[in-house]
Amino acid sequence: MNPRSVIEIAYIVAAVLFCIGIKMLSSPDTARRGNLVSAVGMLLAVVATLLAGGLHYQWILAGIVIGSAVGAFAARTVQMTAMPQMVALFNGFGGLASLLVGWSEYHAHRPETFGFTVVAVALTVIIGAVTFSGSLVAYGKLAERLPGRPIIFKAQHLVSAAVLVLIILAAGAFSLRPAASYPAFLLMAAAALILGVLSTIPIGGADMPVVICLLNSYSGLAACAAGFVIRNNVLIVSGSLVGASGLILTNIMCKAMNRSLTNVLFGGFGAARTKKSGYQGDVRPITPEDTYYLLEAARSVVFVPGYGMAAAQAQHVVRELGELLAANGTDVKYAIHPVAGRMPGHMNVLLAEANVPYEQLVEPEDVNPIMDTIDVAIVIGANDVVNPAARDDEESPLYGMPIIEVDRARTCIVLKRSLNPGFSGVDNPLFFKENTRMLFGDAKASISALVAEFKD
Ligand code: NDP
Repeated sequence: MNPRSVIEIAYIVAAVLFCIGIKMLSSPDTARRGNLVSAVGMLLAVVATLLAGGLHYQWILAGIVIGSAVGAFAARTVQMTAMPQMVALFNGFGGLASLLVGWSEYHAHRPETFGFTVVAVALTVIIGAVTFSGSLVAYGKLAERLPGRPIIFKAQHLVSAAVLVLIILAAGAFSLRPAASYPAFLLMAAAALILGVLSTIPIGGADMPVVICLLNSYSGLAACAAGFVIRNNVLIVSGSLVGASGLILTNIMCKAMNRSLTNVLFGGFGAARTKKSGYQGDVRPITPEDTYYLLEAARSVVFVPGYGMAAAQAQHVVRELGELLAANGTDVKYAIHPVAGRMPGHMNVLLAEANVPYEQLVEPEDVNPIMDTIDVAIVIGANDVVNPAARDDEESPLYGMPIIEVDRARTCIVLKRSLNPGFSGVDNPLFFKENTRMLFGDAKASISALVAEFKD
């Protein structure tokens, strides 16, 4: 068998391992092994590519050393709560890598005439550039280095459309006469970078989960196009997998917020976030001691974690409290909203890290129908995902987003430090409801106090 065939077979095996790995990620029991299977597939693909020859190994080695050093530093120092912006940066660098591949291939081969490779180069550069600059804006918004609110200016859609037309014209000019149209190539890349910024700044911080999934999908498409440029099958396959799974996740996130993708991308959601809602009434604070009495007598308890649980790193004490309640004969559930926290699956990851039994996790559509029968719903640093205005107030920017209806439980206890709104900046009438009690303070300190009460 010739060496090229061996490499292609290795690529097919790697692609199969990617697919099996992704399938295994769909269940928590097999997810860890699924990750490993995919990683083995990637190792195989990398080794096969390195053995293919014709490469400048000194540059690859330099890239591995520098990349590993930066990666190891980031893995050690980045806080769990900063993961979403880290993911945004990763997506962006994926896009940048594809852009650079397209650019360098243009220089390496200097195609003379219109053809498949030229179109692939143009697509790689355009999608890579949009992904890169769009991801940098998403990073800035999530890391709060840029304002989280939508940045909207007059005739924005018109300007974006004009930039898009410019990209199409420049790409057309470049594709038809690639050797003589380097300025058109540069114009196309620069305009695509601008389009990435223009298409991300009008999106509000609360819609960032959807945008991250979409950018993830773009980075896959850019990698796929780069695969066509350098004619590497495994890059085409892995890019398509990332592109498709990103789109599926985007769809799931849109459904979780009851929004269409068009509305997320062009709706300027949250632009009026500074406008106060005017919800008011009596707030009923509660102490850990009184909360303990309520919990001690409860037959069913639902924990609803949100971003505040991640910020407080309260997941381990929450699991401990759940175990104490279960030992007391209480039925314990953890209701996870798909956009709770700051990244898809954020709460699942934290609760899995704390070894919360998977059978105790429930989705909003499972728990909402039985919410009236729940004695106590404990909201741990969640806010937007339990905001009843999303269900009741047509004026609310959150209106229509599915929520976990904790206000229908017999008693709802909200753990947070103040009455401040959540990520969307939208006020929450839950705090003033008759059956709501506010346990003010850091979530970890409050739950630890409850654990101490139980142990006493
Ligand atoms: P929210 O951001 O709505 O609310 C979190 C609450 O946690 C805040 O109101 C804050 O109140 C409280 N909090 C913060 N720190 C602590 C602490 N140490 N102890 C106790 N409470 C604390 O979170 P949700 O999870 O309900 O909603 C997620 C929001 O983020 C949604 O709007 C979603 O669209 C958005 N988003 C989601 C992403 C995802 O993929 N999941 C990604 C990006 C955005 P206080 O300051 O009073 O303590």
